[in-house]
Amino acid sequence: MTYANVIVDISVEKLDKSFQYRIPEELKENIEVGVQVDIPFGSRTLTGYVIELTDEAEFDVEKIRPLIGIHKGSVPMESQLIALAGWMRKHYGSTMNQALKAVLPIRRQTKHVEHRKICLLLSVEEARQKLALFEAKHYTAKARLLRELIAQPELDYTLVTNKLNISVATIRGMQQQEILSVETIRQYRNPVAHLNQQGYHLMLNEDQQRVADMVIADMDAGRMETYLLKGVTGSGKTEVYMELIAHVLEKGRQAIMLIPEIALTYQTVMRFYNRFGDRVSIMNSRLSMGERYDQFERAKAGDIDIMIGPRSALFAPFPNLGLIIIDEEHETSYKSETAPRYHAREVAIERARMSHASVVLGSATPSIDSYYQAKLGNYRLLELNQRVKEQALPSCEIVDMRKELREGNRSILSERLQELMEERLEKQEQIMLFLNRRGVSGFISCRACGYVLKCPHCDVSLSQHAGGRMICHYCGYEEPVPEVCPSCGSKYLGGFKAGTQKIEMLVQKRFPKAKVLRMDFDTTRTKDSYEKILQTFANHEADILIGTQMIVKGHDFANVTLVGVLAADMSLHVPDFHASERTFQLLTQAVGRAGRGEKAGQAIIQTYDPDHFAIQTAQEQNYESFYAQEIAYRNMLLYPPVWNLLVVHCAGEDYEIVAEASEKLALRLQQEIATQGGRTLLVGPADAAISRINDVFRKVIYMKSAGYEMLVGLKDDLELYLKEESIFDKVTVQFDFNPTSGF
Ligand code: ADP
Ligand code: ZN
Ligand code: ZN
Repeated sequence: MTYANVIVDISVEKLDKSFQYRIPEELKENIEVGVQVDIPFGSRTLTGYVIELTDEAEFDVEKIRPLIGIHKGSVPMESQLIALAGWMRKHYGSTMNQALKAVLPIRRQTKHVEHRKICLLLSVEEARQKLALFEAKHYTAKARLLRELIAQPELDYTLVTNKLNISVATIRGMQQQEILSVETIRQYRNPVAHLNQQGYHLMLNEDQQRVADMVIADMDAGRMETYLLKGVTGSGKTEVYMELIAHVLEKGRQAIMLIPEIALTYQTVMRFYNRFGDRVSIMNSRLSMGERYDQFERAKAGDIDIMIGPRSALFAPFPNLGLIIIDEEHETSYKSETAPRYHAREVAIERARMSHASVVLGSATPSIDSYYQAKLGNYRLLELNQRVKEQALPSCEIVDMRKELREGNRSILSERLQELMEERLEKQEQIMLFLNRRGVSGFISCRACGYVLKCPHCDVSLSQHAGGRMICHYCGYEEPVPEVCPSCGSKYLGGFKAGTQKIEMLVQKRFPKAKVLRMDFDTTRTKDSYEKILQTFANHEADILIGTQMIVKGHDFANVTLVGVLAADMSLHVPDFHASERTFQLLTQAVGRAGRGEKAGQAIIQTYDPDHFAIQTAQEQNYESFYAQEIAYRNMLLYPPVWNLLVVHCAGEDYEIVAEASEKLALRLQQEIATQGGRTLLVGPADAAISRINDVFRKVIYMKSAGYEMLVGLKDDLELYLKEESIFDKVTVQFDFNPTSGF
């Protein structure tokens, strides 16, 4: 490579300002992405970081000056993170800027003292009703503000008073009506400062100690490996993590723990805080950009040793990182849905390699990918098969809903479930009803001709909401439910499955004395409402909690002895090769919610597909059996993790151009595959599963190959090809390696 692109200021805002320098011959071997270099800058000498190596001159070759040399001194943290971004760019396909943006924190804009925002307190349904009222009464200012809040439930206060021209009196009035609240955001540097440390920790039991000792022995011997800790819920994985973290801290190193945002509850945070005090920092999406930046600064400065948070916490700039833990490693939220479409698991392993750290992946239901790696011997498998508190796993029954219908029960609750619910309510025990709504949710179709109501812009089915409206979840398009089928004119239009609201109504009607709580997208919109609902239920202020997948994630309610899974097979019909895996995981987690206290638990799985292996093995809570059948299927169809999959997305506003561009890409790929000589299969181009979002057309090309590197080679070749022809200027091309959903 002839030239190096260098950034002088490490901040996302300045990324587009890179400067190009010639690499002197004698330095060529030592310059790589991430290396800190001295550069001539006007008449001064500055220090910068190499972010890209290239043979392409960005301006007049004569005017490109040579680098002075590699900067002397210790290698700063930034070098490693930039090198990691370089690896991500290469491994997943994206621009270097996109990769750097994923890795570097965004600098705080201004140091405002206090910041106020306006939050909608009503559900969207309620807000719409209010809006109609305001409009009818010609309360135009109130209506204007409410419309904005429906579109975006949190608004900046000054934006509302200035841009929307809403008076303070109007805001106050709506505050008194409890339509909205005004909240002040404190600019706290330390998100856990308000907690009180108690400072105690448990003694590990024999099983936990055995697992911890194995990892510690490896660490002390300088063997840094990747471990897969497979442990049933309640087996004490979190205590093991804390033990390992403590060990790493003793050695003067730092640790990162990734945990899905939804599982990052107050209880979890407290456990870590109790043990490690304010050496811990927490990242979550509720922190502002500035606060996130502060957390990264604290990590760099050595103010903290432990960073807990979702995917992005992986890039905490710890100077001497010793351990990365990924809890619930099977969660799909660890895969980025924007370029670079990286998987946190893989990036964690690469970052650990760079800083000579260990990686621990934990789950009760490991991803097929990770278990496969463990079987191959690439990860070391550790197991915890007993619950700490010696509770038995709940007993679980399958109810065939087809049979139920044949026997004349048209209710969404089977006879068996109703019977058990009655019994629990009498005993004052609690019940959770889990509605599996992954993928298809509340769509409406015609029973006469099968026509499904779809969004005219996105080609996905519209979802039915209360108040007779149909809404598109991709673009927000709305229309009323039609009286008759637009296709055949039949009156028999209806939803196949009820939503949580409908179930709440039905349950309340069937058990009028029971107190029912509902947790779903609508009831968890305002800040802290999620925690509030969980707390209310934990305090036994309600008997039944109804919810979507939100309720199945790692909450322990000692008094819950019955879990009902409604429509267990819904997630099996999503067009995605992970459908069985996701269904098994969801069901296992849901069933695991029962009997976490002294009393034994029971679970009912209602399904229209009782013989499906994912449902059968979930009932038996038999991971091994599920894995064996699932991996056989992946083997047969050469799906990941057996082979690797690369999806090339091609999108644009002009259908003809998208079609032509994707044909060209496919042709080029065919040629390249032929020259590679390895075994790679190509499918497409085809319309994407959702072929149209917001009037942007999307085509996809799929490639399956035994070797990941082969696919990286194809991606590299396409990246060059994209610069060659002008048609590609009118389309967006993105790469997705081994996608975790939406295939
Ligand atoms: P997991 O993360 O595998 O679901 P946890 O670490 O949350 O399991 O442990 C489950 C419960 O058991 C928690 O309430 C925890 O406090 C308790 N626990 C874990 N390890 C021990 C131990 N060694 N002694 C006593 N209680 C423990
Ligand atoms: Zn019809
Ligand atoms: Zn739409």
